[in-house]
Amino acid sequence: MIPVQRVPVSDRTQVLLTRWTGRVRDAGGTSKAAREQWIKAQTPRKHVRTALESMTRGAVRCMYCDDSRGTDIDHFQPLENAPLRAFEWSNHLLACSYCNSNAKRSQYPVNGDGVCLLVDPSAEEPANHLRLLLKSGLYDPVDKSAKGEETIRVFGLNRPDLVKGRLDAFFRACSNMRDWHGLHQDADPLADRLAQALLDSPFIDVVHAMTRLEPGVEATVVGQATVPALDAWRTAHSLSFCAADADASGIEGVVDNTLVGDDRTQQGRAGGRNSVGLVTTMQNYGLTWTDPTGTPRSSAVAYDEPSAQYRKAALESEGCTSVEVVAVRPGELPEPRG
Ligand SMILES: [Zn+2]
Repeated sequence: MIPVQRVPVSDRTQVLLTRWTGRVRDAGGTSKAAREQWIKAQTPRKHVRTALESMTRGAVRCMYCDDSRGTDIDHFQPLENAPLRAFEWSNHLLACSYCNSNAKRSQYPVNGDGVCLLVDPSAEEPANHLRLLLKSGLYDPVDKSAKGEETIRVFGLNRPDLVKGRLDAFFRACSNMRDWHGLHQDADPLADRLAQALLDSPFIDVVHAMTRLEPGVEATVVGQATVPALDAWRTAHSLSFCAADADASGIEGVVDNTLVGDDRTQQGRAGGRNSVGLVTTMQNYGLTWTDPTGTPRSSAVAYDEPSAQYRKAALESEGCTSVEVVAVRPGELPEPRG
């Protein structure tokens, strides 16, 4: 499990979600009502799925296991005990059908104070509670964290297929990273291609855990031959994985108000997938568009180019027009064009 940076949904999507929450309330506010309305709500579900997919890193994978394709919208707090959160954007995460329907189902353990004992990767840093042991492929709770233990249990994070998959992914990642390092040193353009393939692979949590290894222990885990490649990878991809870790306040900002974008978390993403080996020459992009009500809008955050193009497609699918990607200097954002 790696941190996921929640994006804001469009005003149009939020209006839809609010309207459907009203319908759940009008139908009695029960879990049965929530389930019935959720099944009917095809358009809101499409909007939510598009927004969730834009939050995944590389390929669209489950936000819990990082293995299978994310096919289901999971209600983090289940409809059974929070029917009025059925259409709440901050309660939606993308899961594979196994994690959603076979592992988590409607489980939502809480402690004696009613605080949830599951890690929400869009609201907090999973590594505060979960440690991935690369040489065994197993997750372990950090400092016997109850939240870590329950998260491993409820999501089945140590199920045998995931453990085997992580071990294989770790073996491949070490090899790929060494190959990437050779290409990177030769300034071969294939280095970027290989890095992207690695970032798009299942079990990205393995690469994430590799980048977090302490200097004193990394040689015993990845092997001395891989250490120079790992160091170079960290330098080239520093923003890709460390932004959320280094700036927990950005994540907390998302918890407080998930519908407001946070510059810091988005800026963190901006340095990610597009900055392979070229962090110092990173180019930022903003967007301008006209929303479905005819109001000119502009993005409140900066993106890297693939993310900006993805956001453009998402806005167009939501009925926005004149959507343009605009190159901006670091720290600047475009003005609405009206
Ligand atoms: Zn999954």
